[in-house]
Amino acid sequence: MEEKIDVKIKDSVVEILIPAKKIEGKKSKLIPLDIDKDTLMELESIGNTLKEVCIRKKGAGLSACQIGIFKSMFVWKAKDKWELVINPQTFIKKKSVLAHEGCLSYPDKVYFIQRCKQVWVKYYIVQNHKLKMKARQLNGYNAIVFQHEYDHSIGKTLKTEGRLDEERSDLKKKAEKEKKRIEKLKAKKVDVKPKVENTKVHKIQNR
Ligand SMILES: [Zn+2]
Repeated sequence: MEEKIDVKIKDSVVEILIPAKKIEGKKSKLIPLDIDKDTLMELESIGNTLKEVCIRKKGAGLSACQIGIFKSMFVWKAKDKWELVINPQTFIKKKSVLAHEGCLSYPDKVYFIQRCKQVWVKYYIVQNHKLKMKARQLNGYNAIVFQHEYDHSIGKTLKTEGRLDEERSDLKKKAEKEKKRIEKLKAKKVDVKPKVENTKVHKIQNR
């Protein structure tokens, strides 16, 4: 690999996400399939960082470009198991739906976006210090998360492809504010109950 990657998890892991503007329209590079063992280990280490950030920020997936590494790879939680996906591709897509989505790169926003509930995908995983190809059909939630992360690898984001849902974005902003207020009070050991009961946005997980 041409660039040296040095990403370490800090306590301020939030700061690791780069501004959304820098990922909009920017394609990530495909990872060469003949890479050596050391580079594979480096990819796995990036994968661990992505997973750590994603878990801390309660996301469903996170692409390398979102932390400033423009390599075609992401982590996601498929069937309760985290997986590092390398060089994702999507093929046949079926059953188009209008989805509501959030993205870790646009933390306060909710977007409408057209997705497919059924998609055939191909990608690589690292197994026993080798790249192993996987081809599978995804349905429902998994299909939608995969498409979101795949889009990141080709520079497409919710902002470039979707439409802002202003009502839900407002609610989400309020919910985030409220969450922070409660966390602050809890840190001071004040007994507090949430003010805003939010049913419209609490299920939309960021990616
Ligand atoms: Zn995203």
